[in-house]
Amino acid sequence: MKRATIIFIILYATIMNAQTIKFNDYFVDQTMRIDYFHIGDAANEFITIDHVFQYGTWAGSLKNLIDNFNNGAYYYKIYDLASGKLIFSRGFDSYFKEYQTVDDAIKGIKRTYHESAIIPYPKNKIRFVLERRDKQNKLNEIFSSEIDPSDLYIIKDAVKDDAVKIYKSHYSGNPHDKVDVAILGDGYTLKEQKKFEDDLKRFSSVFLSHEPYKSRKDKFNIYGVFKPSEESGIDEPGANIYKNTTLGTTFYALGSERYILTDKNKAILDLAAHVPYDAIYIMCNSARYGGGGIYNFYCTFVSDNQFSNYIFLHEFGHSFSGLADEYYTSDVAYNDSYPKQVEPVEPNITRLLDKNNLKWKSLVTPGTEIPSLWEKENYDKMDYAWQKERREINKHIAELKRNKASQKEIENAQNEYNKKDKLHSDEVDKYLMSSKYWNKVGAFEGAGYSATGMYRPMPDCLMFSKGSKPFCKVCEERVIEVIKHYSE
Ligand SMILES: [Zn+2]
Repeated sequence: MKRATIIFIILYATIMNAQTIKFNDYFVDQTMRIDYFHIGDAANEFITIDHVFQYGTWAGSLKNLIDNFNNGAYYYKIYDLASGKLIFSRGFDSYFKEYQTVDDAIKGIKRTYHESAIIPYPKNKIRFVLERRDKQNKLNEIFSSEIDPSDLYIIKDAVKDDAVKIYKSHYSGNPHDKVDVAILGDGYTLKEQKKFEDDLKRFSSVFLSHEPYKSRKDKFNIYGVFKPSEESGIDEPGANIYKNTTLGTTFYALGSERYILTDKNKAILDLAAHVPYDAIYIMCNSARYGGGGIYNFYCTFVSDNQFSNYIFLHEFGHSFSGLADEYYTSDVAYNDSYPKQVEPVEPNITRLLDKNNLKWKSLVTPGTEIPSLWEKENYDKMDYAWQKERREINKHIAELKRNKASQKEIENAQNEYNKKDKLHSDEVDKYLMSSKYWNKVGAFEGAGYSATGMYRPMPDCLMFSKGSKPFCKVCEERVIEVIKHYSE
């Protein structure tokens, strides 16, 4: 068969497939949440279903039911049991996947994580399938179970909690054709409700002032969900600080001092269920630098650090659009996140295995050499030196806190650190702006936690370095596509 004919057939099949899944044929306008346990270590994993829930209006698109982004380490797929047809899918990453890359998991220590698949409520029996990527990034089925939507044991409890307060921070219309963002508070006490309201307003405005969200304001609804925590602030285990909070967020996740996650998946989704949502933000009431973002899972950020605006936007880049970290000089919790000789699935980093077919070829600035030989040596010198210093200062501050040093002494140390952190970040900005490739799209070595053999699209990006800056062109394009997926 001629190539053109094959392409035509593939295109035709894709279009027919998209056309034939009509929402009303397979779903009602409600939500099904399938909770399950994900258990294992680095080499083994298995799944058991916990509970299935039915609640509220479906927040997602009625049109785009299949996720064609081919991103994330996992996919959940919903098949109509009778016809065997794929009727819904979504790619995602999870806390469990991150756990698999740390030392304990490699040693064979098994842990249990709670996860959920959120789908429109099916009319008929379905087959729920989980797939995960192998070392070549090919998806393979790891779990499958039949679910009958008329099962008596599906939980239909009213979503009701007198302690919860809901805010419509930005509203532009029907959740079906909007991206619905839920911002949940953690570490805010009842007395700090006003602070939550102010923080929600502040970050909603940061969000709607940043491209590509800014020119697509009418595609978003932003909700705030407040449930008071018993104590103010969040856990900081390295400093022997533990707080009783609603969502249990904690610094030092997977051993990394500025990484904030929580394994209370059920608490998060029970709280988010008070509003329609496509994406979840967890706003942590803290001034210490930190955050985290997992694709189609959730992201966390701190409310009061000098870099809070940056963390807020950067982490959402991970959780909403599945963008990879483009940086490579700072410490992370993972071992070998990206196997060599395999192209990562994220859109904004590449192994450059075939330089004539660069992933973001269509966006390359004409005349830019691939790979693009940027001023890497001096950048590395400058940044590695700072990473080393930063580690030492952070260790010192944690020690002061553990040893219950005076508030004044801790504050002084923190202020000094913040000053240095800002100074370094300004220096990096200045250095990258002076690059001969500034504002150009090419392929720049150093990305995805690897100093060599991994490339990013532009010298700088919101996914590369800290500060007030735009996404690179490649990241921006993906964010726009994801917005479209949820809002049409
Ligand atoms: Zn980027």
